[in-house]
Amino acid sequence: MTDITVELPDGSTMDVDEGTTVEDIAYSIGEGLGNDCKAGIVSGDLVAKEHPITTDCTLEIVTPSHEQYIDVLRHSAAHVLAQAIKRLYPDAELGMGPWTDDGFYYDFDNLEIEEEDFEQIEDEMETIIEEDLSIERIELTEDEARERLTDEPYKLELLEDFLDEDKNVSFYQQGDFIDLCKGPHVDSTGEIEAVALLEIAGAYWKGDEANTMLERIYATAFTSQEELDSFIEKREAAKKRDHRRIGQQMDLFSIPEFAPGCVHFHPKGMTIRRELEEYIREKNRQLGYSEVWTPELNKAELWKKTGHYEAFKEDGEMFAWEQDDTEYGLKPMNCANHSHIYQSDKRSYRELPIKLSEFGTVYRNEQSGELSGLMRVRGMTQDDGHAYIRDEQIEDEINKHLDIIAQMYDDFGFDITFKLETKPSKAQGPDELWDKAEEALENALKDRETEYEINPEEGAFYGPKIGVMVEDAIGREWQLGTVQLDFVIPRNYGLTYVGKDNEEHYPVMIHRAILGSIDRFMGVMIEHFAGEFPVWLAPEQVRILPVSDKHMEYAEQIKEQLSDYRVEIEDRSWTVGKKIQATHDDNVPYMIIVGGDEEQAGTIAVRDRNENEDRDIDPGTFEQYLETAIDEKHLDLRFLQD
Ligand SMILES: [Zn+2]
Ligand SMILES: [Zn+2]
Repeated sequence: MTDITVELPDGSTMDVDEGTTVEDIAYSIGEGLGNDCKAGIVSGDLVAKEHPITTDCTLEIVTPSHEQYIDVLRHSAAHVLAQAIKRLYPDAELGMGPWTDDGFYYDFDNLEIEEEDFEQIEDEMETIIEEDLSIERIELTEDEARERLTDEPYKLELLEDFLDEDKNVSFYQQGDFIDLCKGPHVDSTGEIEAVALLEIAGAYWKGDEANTMLERIYATAFTSQEELDSFIEKREAAKKRDHRRIGQQMDLFSIPEFAPGCVHFHPKGMTIRRELEEYIREKNRQLGYSEVWTPELNKAELWKKTGHYEAFKEDGEMFAWEQDDTEYGLKPMNCANHSHIYQSDKRSYRELPIKLSEFGTVYRNEQSGELSGLMRVRGMTQDDGHAYIRDEQIEDEINKHLDIIAQMYDDFGFDITFKLETKPSKAQGPDELWDKAEEALENALKDRETEYEINPEEGAFYGPKIGVMVEDAIGREWQLGTVQLDFVIPRNYGLTYVGKDNEEHYPVMIHRAILGSIDRFMGVMIEHFAGEFPVWLAPEQVRILPVSDKHMEYAEQIKEQLSDYRVEIEDRSWTVGKKIQATHDDNVPYMIIVGGDEEQAGTIAVRDRNENEDRDIDPGTFEQYLETAIDEKHLDLRFLQD
């Protein structure tokens, strides 16, 4: 009975019997491929080579040269980690141990270790790798499996999910270690070339705060030592730039335990945030936006009108509750409130585009395990904006927005690419409007120099979007700003304008955020600059260091002259060397050193963060320079290099 069709990557098809495995197919294509087969990708899912084909599907054979081989290798390394832990700490209980984007982790209960123990654990892993234990797949019945798992309560809890149609379950065994697992795995522990443990973190069982907190060991594995070394090097570089560390060191912000995912900006952090806001206000003026403010607290019925309720509330993403028999919520987006303002008056075609902007604070109920510094928060302020336009204004408006975005990211020294995200599964609105919106966005992208890629099904429920992908100083990519086109909310909400024909029409809505979330943008920016902000953003732009207390008065006089800028005087009775060091540590762009010579001549000595120094400078000349550098948003400290 040949009734299943398998499509291979080259587009060719094969008819196979039901139950044929991935490995059988690899062998039927060629003996070499069969020998190299480690796993398969069946209709997009990575599966063990023993996986039986039961329906029509696409199939890729995963060999060591396939890009997903690394996931198979890392998952096998996770088993090696668990085996090493079991050898060293026999009472440890096994949780889950999947691969991740850049490594793997394993969760354990009854395990108390510190990072100092990593070396010993890594040594044990090396031993297991050298033992070159073959990794065998074993099929057991449910009863046999329960027997095997009597000492593993967490695994026992997972058993149900692992049972196949015939109530059988697979285990993988290597030497003295056996683990409930669907695979896939490499053939032997000896295939793992390079492993390293990275860090320990607490993690709730199944990600649920109501469950026990387990010890999670993060680790990674590569097919060569060189790749591992380069990964570790990049990771160290990223760690030095970690915005949580810099944020604390420079006293920019905190996220206290009583407000998980909600950022407190300290005075210096707020100074940076205000600069960003002013910068965006200027861009908004150029784009013709009027600033508004709308409240966070609204009745939930508001979002039932726009469709947000359906999209957010049901995923548990929205904060909403009953009070006095009414359901209230914190706004997850600003669109509904802006649409209310649009609707507060009768609109005519002559008025369009109508553009409303807001530094709008929104709340989303992100899982506590997902929260991460400024990068993933629950309360965030977006530099949000909505433009209500006529059909024929789409292309022009999209282009204007993309121009400003490209220019803005250039001001920060970020390289960008655009990403077109198309219709998602929870999309609302008719297909022909989606097609029209996607076409309009793609046309705008085609005309630009900036490269773009297409991400299918990633758009918002109301329309396709252009995401701004930003590459930072150490080559990492972040998605920040967005421009989205929307034909759905105006219809849901009943927004209209009176056209030339005297008929009512629906406007098209553009949702856009240039920075995206200001919180997240700040996180990315702190890491991009490693805390060494350009002078226009630096919370303290200049620090004056009097050589001794005798020159305090002159220092005050210079500070007065530079009163338009953020200038502090170092008044502690320290040596000049120590004052210079402290100014460096605080990432202040410029320091002015004043002593007897300077005071007598009425000059200053200026030193920048990069240790360039200029003496006998007229304070007025420096003031002029500061003005230009700040107005023009210089990224470097150019004055002293001229
Ligand atoms: Zn496994
Ligand atoms: Zn919006």
